[in-house]
Amino acid sequence: MYHHVKKLMYTVSIGEADARFGKMLLEQFGGANGELAAAMQYSIQGLNCDDPGLKDLLMDIGTEELSHLEVIGTLARTHLKPTKSSRAAADADPLIAICGGGGVGLYNSAGNAWTADYLKITGELDVDLRSNIAAEARAKIVYERLIDFCDDAGSKDALQFLMTREITHMRAFMTALAAMEKPPLAIGLINPSAKIVDQYFNTSTGKGEQGEQDLLGPWNDDTSVERIDAPAFQSFADPQLGTRRAEPIEGAELAPPTQEAPQPMQMEHAGEGAKRKRGAHKEKAARE
Ligand code: MN
Ligand code: MN
Repeated sequence: MYHHVKKLMYTVSIGEADARFGKMLLEQFGGANGELAAAMQYSIQGLNCDDPGLKDLLMDIGTEELSHLEVIGTLARTHLKPTKSSRAAADADPLIAICGGGGVGLYNSAGNAWTADYLKITGELDVDLRSNIAAEARAKIVYERLIDFCDDAGSKDALQFLMTREITHMRAFMTALAAMEKPPLAIGLINPSAKIVDQYFNTSTGKGEQGEQDLLGPWNDDTSVERIDAPAFQSFADPQLGTRRAEPIEGAELAPPTQEAPQPMQMEHAGEGAKRKRGAHKEKAARE
């Protein structure tokens, strides 16, 4: 049961209306990571949820997102209202000015209609919670960009509230996922195939004209991972992988990196986190 209270969850008061910014705000009204999408995704997941605790969580947050929809809708409407009467403002968005009379519609910032295709609902609770964590992260970063493009203190204030709540939701979904105590790679019931699951295919090789190169990180350079360089050019015969004979390669550009190639030269990474366990595969090779 829903009940509307004639109050906003967070007060919206703006200085000067900015129709072009109002159009940007529509991304969080009728966009892929917007409040309607969040409200529908969590509420419908909740309808399908047999776990009473998780159902309660999904309904709590899904309902809060409807209140966010009202806040962002009010904010966007306030910025867009002049498009109804001002030709200069109407230039910001003819769709809203001419068809919508200066009001918000379920469109994103580019005028594309909202669609149920935005929703990620699998009926598998841990999978859905991961989608929700990612959705909250996307909503957070969109709000952050809107704040960055905003000069109006009142608008920023409301956006800061909405952005903050997304982190709160993200934490709740992360806590719920952790409480399920499922190993992170245990999705569904059927086990992945042994050996294949541990292979990393290095399918983008060689050097690019803009300095692109093969790089290593813990995802492909760890004792738990078997890196296969340029698998398209390798012959193999394996009971699990099957049998394939690769054609000889013409041209140096297509040649796969060899064991003798100066692979350690590739070890450049942007982040400290990516440096963890660097070189582990070489230690493994040395032991074997
Ligand atoms: Mn929200
Ligand atoms: Mn949220």
